[in-house]
Amino acid sequence: MSLNKVSVDDINVKGKRVLCRCDFNVPLKDGKITDENRLVAALPTIKKLIADGGKVILCSHLGKPKGEPKPELSLAPVAARLTELLGQEVKFAADPEVVGPNAKAAVEAMQDGEVILLENTRYRVEETKNGEAFSKDLASLCDIFVNDAFGTAHRAHCSNVGVSELVDTAAVGYLMQKEIDFLGNAVENPVRPFVAILGGAKVADKLNVISNLLEKCDTLIIGGGMAYTFLKAQGNEIGNSLVDDTKLDYCKEMIEKAEKLGKKLLLPIDSATITAFPNPIDAPVEVEVYDSNNMPADREGCDIGPKTAEMFADAVKSAKTVVWNGPMGVFENPTLAEGTIAVAKALAETDATTIIGGGDSAAAVNQLGFGDKMSHISTGGGASLEFLEGKELPGVAAATNK
Ligand code: ATP
Repeated sequence: MSLNKVSVDDINVKGKRVLCRCDFNVPLKDGKITDENRLVAALPTIKKLIADGGKVILCSHLGKPKGEPKPELSLAPVAARLTELLGQEVKFAADPEVVGPNAKAAVEAMQDGEVILLENTRYRVEETKNGEAFSKDLASLCDIFVNDAFGTAHRAHCSNVGVSELVDTAAVGYLMQKEIDFLGNAVENPVRPFVAILGGAKVADKLNVISNLLEKCDTLIIGGGMAYTFLKAQGNEIGNSLVDDTKLDYCKEMIEKAEKLGKKLLLPIDSATITAFPNPIDAPVEVEVYDSNNMPADREGCDIGPKTAEMFADAVKSAKTVVWNGPMGVFENPTLAEGTIAVAKALAETDATTIIGGGDSAAAVNQLGFGDKMSHISTGGGASLEFLEGKELPGVAAATNK
């Protein structure tokens, strides 16, 4: 897949109708936006299109209205907030058909540099099926398409893929470009040594990620709940730790694959263990540390131990590129967050390019206060995992190549 895409810096939108697919899928409570990060993140691309004199038509999905108008999932509150954030009117093109008579009339009346927002694209039943009728409607509204919604790049929908195929130019916005630069190019063509760190709960969620990263990286580090299936596959006692017995053979295969490829595969050499999982999750716990080859049968590994944390941090120090997905332990509990903090610190302190992929990992890094120390924190959970799997993302593939 070519990752060399036409971007908003390569196009001339003066006097043109530009349809810009954003990710305005923000949490709403009683009609109020409770987290506006995604709106703020979309501003650079929108401002650029305004400054260049485009007629800027914004669109996005919000929640899951399942193909019909649902007033509680209207994008109207987003238009109001964007108006404040941009300091210029973002006219809301209320229209149950999204691209119906109202929206068309609103676009018709636009002057250069003006902005409108269409209604929730998922009001249309075709949207998530990439149905032709809605893609055509969207394409008919614009001269140029810009896609800045990375969060949906792993889906082929009308408002990212269908419309791209019907316009002359489908460019990527700044947010999308950054994701491609870091998650795409850094993984496909990394500055070496390249260290990949995987954690989180389940091996089964990341089978393809493990396999692909093993091929691309120099060192693969596995921590978190998923490490125990690997440790069991090696013949270790893992007590009551999280395990997926159906994936033992898979883990053995990956261990062999690493050997064959001459890659380092680092697994925890010790664990912070407890006797009962905390409820609530941040309730006090009594921790005892055991080496991986000496775990008692009645304990549960819930974080990497201090020796492992040091070993992982040393591996990070030697890297020029680091990709991290998934916490090293039950980081929601302060006592079981130490391993995740140690790894986050190692990433924060290195001059290497550091990339965080995935929802929970991004949350952990931000929650622990290391967010601004990373080179890139991906905004897409599912989409970033698929990038790490080496898959072609439909929303990226559909953009025009340079
Ligand atoms: P996302 O793909 O959304 O970024 P993630 O890959 O970062 O998610 P998940 O696979 O969702 O991470 O796993 C995160 C969860 O795993 C956390 O809630 C954490 O408490 C839990 N977890 C981590 N280590 C362990 C462990 N040793 N035992 C039990 N649970 C664990």
